Amino acid sequence: MISPALRPLSASSWAWMHDRTDWGFSNSGVIASGGEVLLVDTQFTLPATRLVLDAVGAAVPGGVIGTVVATHGNGDHTWGNQLLPDAEIVTSIASTVGLCHEMGPEQLTALAQSHSADPATRYISRNFGHFDFAGITVVRPTRTFSGREEVKVGSVLVELLDLGAGHSAGDVAVHVPDEGVVFAGDALFADSHMVVWSGSLSGCIQACGQVLDTGAEVFVPGHGPLLDRSGVTGIRDQLFRVQEAALDCVKAGVPLADAARRVMAGHAGSWAHPERLFTQVAAVYEEAGATSVPASTLAMVEGMASLAC
Ligand SMILES: [Zn+2]
Repeated sequence: MISPALRPLSASSWAWMHDRTDWGFSNSGVIASGGEVLLVDTQFTLPATRLVLDAVGAAVPGGVIGTVVATHGNGDHTWGNQLLPDAEIVTSIASTVGLCHEMGPEQLTALAQSHSADPATRYISRNFGHFDFAGITVVRPTRTFSGREEVKVGSVLVELLDLGAGHSAGDVAVHVPDEGVVFAGDALFADSHMVVWSGSLSGCIQACGQVLDTGAEVFVPGHGPLLDRSGVTGIRDQLFRVQEAALDCVKAGVPLADAARRVMAGHAGSWAHPERLFTQVAAVYEEAGATSVPASTLAMVEGMASLAC
């Protein structure tokens, strides 16, 4: 088991990195200057978030986390928010649209601990059964923005970028322009295939372009190890190839489940979680106006579980 750690990235920024691709082990970001601290995403559980806060306390003695930027609404990036009751929690307006569809900690716990033989539930048990969601109260963002917003953390300029719908209904990236660092949230997955909850693979491809357009050299993905520019370009190219392959299937009238198998056979490569390609293919089908595309989170999990078998 690899222990997460707070890694310095530049003069004012650090990344809390898990360097693993399993579900739920998300990376967080820290920007600090003059005693002020901005945190990019909390963690999936309260103990995991406490580890981050302890590490921030050691790296920035006396620093106060006044702002938490939620890159999107998924629990693995937000379920530690309650440990920062005095902080402003900022996200995009688009991100809040998806919050009502998020599975809560009680529902996820119930599914993960159920002994159902149903493939989707077994998939959830296998991937989430080891997390302890006890005591979590979901805390919503306290402020929203759209487009682009500049904030100051001490003397450091920080840019919040509303990437629109892609991985989720609304993804946000955090850019430190003077230091060439981007915290991309789940707009980027490193060494594993992207999950698309929003129904827009085009949005995911555009988001890669948006983060590259910042000119940054260091990219902190939502999951997995650090990326450089060629890493982000590689992710964008892979998403584009999947889009092309899935569109060929749409045009040929291939049913979604068969198309997902076909695309996985051709494009799984060596990245973890090739079953997530189901969500990418489903997004292409949805964007192409195909009927019978699963919309709910659980239906997407069923699709992934069927490919994982
Ligand atoms: Zn995530």
